[in-house]
Amino acid sequence: MSINVIPVTLSQFLFHAEAKNPALKGVAGLLEDVAVACKHIAHACSRGNLAGIGGLAGADNVQGEAQKKIDVLANDLFISANRWGERVCALVSEEEENPWIPPANIRKGPYILLFDPLDGSSNSDVNVSVGSIFSVLRAPEGYQELSFDTKWALRPGHEQVVAGYALYGQATIMVLTLGDGVHVFTLDRDVGEFIHSHEHVRIPEATQEFAINASNARFWEPPVRQYIDECLLGKEAGGRGKDFNMRWIASLVAEAHRILMRGGVFLYPRDHKVPKKAGRLRLMYECNPIAMIIEQAGGMASTGRERILDVVPEEFHQRIGFIFGSSEEVRYVEKLHRELPAHDHASPLFQARGLFQK
Ligand code: MN
Ligand code: MN
Repeated sequence: MSINVIPVTLSQFLFHAEAKNPALKGVAGLLEDVAVACKHIAHACSRGNLAGIGGLAGADNVQGEAQKKIDVLANDLFISANRWGERVCALVSEEEENPWIPPANIRKGPYILLFDPLDGSSNSDVNVSVGSIFSVLRAPEGYQELSFDTKWALRPGHEQVVAGYALYGQATIMVLTLGDGVHVFTLDRDVGEFIHSHEHVRIPEATQEFAINASNARFWEPPVRQYIDECLLGKEAGGRGKDFNMRWIASLVAEAHRILMRGGVFLYPRDHKVPKKAGRLRLMYECNPIAMIIEQAGGMASTGRERILDVVPEEFHQRIGFIFGSSEEVRYVEKLHRELPAHDHASPLFQARGLFQK
């Protein structure tokens, strides 16, 4: 006799993973709290203007970006969902200059949760996909007795215990890695559960799709300009033997998810637009979690010059150049970075006897 089978939920998946691997102790409870926050954010986003969260909040965040009401709400939801669970010793948010540390009446937990509560919020007023991104690091032994030290969190991305994102699109999904492949969970609103919908997702090695903000072309470094020129020249003249398509959603989570599901390459490289900034995207709660997911799915993530997951952060809100996706393309972009100079004035055309001597 057959029985009616119910699909595996996120909670069941997490508690099973934790039972199999003692190193993940407490991770299931932590991610349950994250999932609660994401469900509330999904609900708010899906109500659009009816939720009264359109427009600006009237303040700038620590990065000097205008906060939207939805940024503030998502940040509050993330912090309130994760503050009582005794799973964390610090919460690090894109929207907060300093970490949230549990007050004396809340026991500290062994994890540090870093997050971008709402990614792509400039898209929220136009009903395009937005998301949340999160990263989990482990506190050192003895964390209960010690007070939180920022050094605990300034760890390279390859030390992440968990990386994930939620995407609030046509469907709300959560994508997770606990270091053993990439799994997708789709929110079933009728039962209020994330359902395990894709397991061990793999990114195709080859692709014909690239994503870049082409309005910055005049600020690009020579390796990036060379790469995009070759893509645009196409099959006949580009030297790559194929024609490329371009995609640009301007929402990192949405770009990452497209690449996870069907391949592609994304570039937000370091450029000369604002010389002080080493890139646009934030290393600790945007690039690192996406990079871990992409690598776990067989893709690559790089600054162009080194593996993202090996970069040792200097501060929580550090920015960096970010290139990720199908391994064949990322490897090729890295090769161009090794072969070409970072600045035009390093090119032979600008040297002592060059054409453009200054
Ligand atoms: Mn973001
Ligand atoms: Mn954000």
